[in-house]
Amino acid sequence: MRITFYGGVGGVTGSKHLVEIGNNRILLDCGFFQGHRREARELNSELPFDPALINAVILSHGHLDHCGALPLLLKRGYTGKIYASAATRDVAEWILKDAANIQKQDARYMNKHRIQGAELAKPLYRLSDIGQVIKRFVAVPYARELSGWFNLGPYAPGVQIKFYDAGHILGSSVVVLQAEEDGKQVRLAFTGDLGRSNTPLIPDPEFIKEEVPTLLLESTYGQREHQPVKEAVEELVRVVKRANETGGKIIVPSFALGRTQEIVYVLHKLTDEGRIPRIPIYVDSPLATHISDVFMEHPEDYDEESWKEFGRRGDLPLSFRNLDYIRTQEESKALNEIPGPFMVISASGMCEAGRILHHLANNVEDPKNTILITGFQAEHTLGRRLVEGEKSIRIFGKYYAVRAEVVVLNEFSAHADSSDLQNYAEQVNGLNRVFLIHGESSQAEGLKTNLLAKHPNWQITIPQRGDSFDI
Ligand SMILES: [Zn+2]
Repeated sequence: MRITFYGGVGGVTGSKHLVEIGNNRILLDCGFFQGHRREARELNSELPFDPALINAVILSHGHLDHCGALPLLLKRGYTGKIYASAATRDVAEWILKDAANIQKQDARYMNKHRIQGAELAKPLYRLSDIGQVIKRFVAVPYARELSGWFNLGPYAPGVQIKFYDAGHILGSSVVVLQAEEDGKQVRLAFTGDLGRSNTPLIPDPEFIKEEVPTLLLESTYGQREHQPVKEAVEELVRVVKRANETGGKIIVPSFALGRTQEIVYVLHKLTDEGRIPRIPIYVDSPLATHISDVFMEHPEDYDEESWKEFGRRGDLPLSFRNLDYIRTQEESKALNEIPGPFMVISASGMCEAGRILHHLANNVEDPKNTILITGFQAEHTLGRRLVEGEKSIRIFGKYYAVRAEVVVLNEFSAHADSSDLQNYAEQVNGLNRVFLIHGESSQAEGLKTNLLAKHPNWQITIPQRGDSFDI
């Protein structure tokens, strides 16, 4: 077996790993790079392998940095299927449609500001390309719903997979892959992105039950320990109370998928319990609104806890009286004119594009306001600059002084922390080879040190982009 890491290494975006096993070439994830705009564009427009030679694609979950390059893969000659959970397929559909729209807007903007004679910017794919991608999906049930392995069939003969819930976002999966090679059975597991235990709405990560010698383990928070969610909830209560007293606005950049639904859920509970005042809350992201609909369609993948609390009363976890889903651009703009207190949750989660930029531009200079960061912010993004406490930020070519309070609540993160990751690896029977992926180098190095201290016999590698390994 040979593994080549084409993305989602040395950083958190662009997840793409090619596994060559027997006569099969299996691609794990096919994600977009994000961050520095020009660099990301360049990386995304190249596929460093021949799509026509891939037998099967397995998708861990529907975040853009894991599925964003799928339309390109098809356009450049991929003829096989895409294996994912049913919820991942539905999530990916909206994420890809949104990505096509953003590329269209970006191309329009770049062409408007183009230097004379420069080449016209073109989107890598369009809305009309997405339907064909979705048709290629094959829904794979979680191992808990299936007896035995799932066969990839004639496209990848002899290859079998099992999905465990990764507890990261709706539909997220840990993939275990097995195949015969030279008369021997070979196995490998890929965590995709791993979630935390005891978070609302999404189930806890499920451990792998098979013996697996080789693990591709994410390391986003490889050397960071999260505080308990309870403390983040207290901080959230403080932020809402402060806004209520000062008439301030709370601006929440949020991944349309994952954080938005969890925060809405927590706010719903806190409001019901009378712990926070009933200030208006707006989810201003068409994508988040669609994704919340996907949630309602897949209650089977919810955490039991959420159903116990809300299901029986006929109450829905993701809707309540003072919560509004904003659909049109006019409604979104109208929020600029309304006085606080209120909260607006808007995408993109790393403040790279979308309506959040308008909300930041309009509100970041007022000390009454709060910018509430709830998810991981990659290097070179506007969100990361806010987290690092920069006093002046640039939005649409204009500088703004950061006077609003910036509050970071990593505890709502959909990513496991250092000890969760270590524990996850330790639960895998027969493990001896670990590749640390999906982390900035300091995080991956930190995790490597911790793992080696307890398991000196494990071979642990932090691969770089383009590295291949024979196993
Ligand atoms: Zn993810």
